[in-house]
Amino acid sequence: MDESVAPKIYTCYKCGLESAVERAFARERAFPGARVKFLCPKCQVKRHQQSTLIFYVLIPALGIGLTLLDIKPLASVARILLELTTMMVLVIPLIFVHELAHTAVAALTGLRVFAVLLGSGRSLVAFRWLGINWNVRVLPVGGATLISGPRSRGYRIRLFFTYLAGPLTHLALMAGFFFLMVILYLGFQGEWLWRMAINGMALNGILFLVNIFPKKFSSNAGHIGTDGWQLLHLFSMSEKELNERDATYYILETVDAIQQSKMDRAKQWIERGLTLHPQHPMMVNVLGFFQVHAREYAAARETFLQVLSAPGELKPEVRYMAMNNIAFSNMVLNDVSLLPQADEYSAQAYQNMPWEPLIAGTRGAVLVRMGRVEDGMPLLRTAFASNPDKKGKAAEACFLAEAEWRRGNMTEARRWAGTARGLDPACPYLPETERRLGEPAPEKRPQ
Ligand SMILES: [Zn+2]
Ligand SMILES: [Zn+2]
Repeated sequence: MDESVAPKIYTCYKCGLESAVERAFARERAFPGARVKFLCPKCQVKRHQQSTLIFYVLIPALGIGLTLLDIKPLASVARILLELTTMMVLVIPLIFVHELAHTAVAALTGLRVFAVLLGSGRSLVAFRWLGINWNVRVLPVGGATLISGPRSRGYRIRLFFTYLAGPLTHLALMAGFFFLMVILYLGFQGEWLWRMAINGMALNGILFLVNIFPKKFSSNAGHIGTDGWQLLHLFSMSEKELNERDATYYILETVDAIQQSKMDRAKQWIERGLTLHPQHPMMVNVLGFFQVHAREYAAARETFLQVLSAPGELKPEVRYMAMNNIAFSNMVLNDVSLLPQADEYSAQAYQNMPWEPLIAGTRGAVLVRMGRVEDGMPLLRTAFASNPDKKGKAAEACFLAEAEWRRGNMTEARRWAGTARGLDPACPYLPETERRLGEPAPEKRPQ
């Protein structure tokens, strides 16, 4: 790594957060031609939640309120607001159908569906079904499907039909609602049926256009495109990007196998992935991730150090992830001489990527281990609340137990240890945590 070249720093115009991780920031202009402003992931999420709440609370409330008040000149405004409310409710099942269409076509064409996200915001229910991780979220707006596959024959064609399936669903539904209108025209009356047919056609028309319009936008998962953008982009993908996508497939398979505790299968995926992409930093990183889960912490640390010192320029997000992982390995190795490096690396990673629950969790755990309990606990609590993975949650619960033990709060410490055991009885950090809990807290110990 060339230390003389400082990375470009991006600043969030709302909260002032400074970070080198360019891909996580949304770019905005106040008006066409204005200077580009950057918005950090945390502020993006906040704004999305606020606007969703305003839409889903304000519009229905105003609509119902005006209707009840029955003020004659405002009758048409009330009607429009109620119409909008109906559409906002109808859009929820339509998003579900859209994502399911992507999922079904991907599965039919032999691609691998790793996850389906329905809605946005905080996770409400997470479960595994048909080999897919389903995650239903609180806010009824948005959805996403995580699809990947090895670079094989017909790779682009498979992806083409998979991306097309979403927007096509809306065209098919438009045709269905049109058919309903024809039937109604032929003699069946009933005003609400007419309204449903018209709303259904309009809504699916809008959804079709929104999804087919080629537009790239950012999210904290990086820059992503609409279905239309993906369809256009598919046939102009460079050799480098195809290679990148192939590596990503092996990484996703490995992580999925580890989360399922299928360590033999995970090992096979790593071997295949590393044979095809021996120098890929994220592929090497996932080997370290595997070693952590196999409790080979010293080997994991060496692997993560290898990622950090790899020749060539590392993407900032990969560099900070490697630093986070070294810090975590140092901490679980329980070697006091490695703590200063854990502190330095986890601080840098957290400074640049505070929105990443994994990184916040590591920072929190390192702070607790160093005795800065009050600084570390809020980070661990946030990480615990937002982590959808049971094993990850169990680890965070262990470090929260350690924090409460350090405060001399034994009841809470035992409660957290119990939570960790409930989430993952085989949690590798549990024995160490319980050993600590059997000793007097450091503050209570005579100096
Ligand atoms: Zn911000
Ligand atoms: Zn889609």
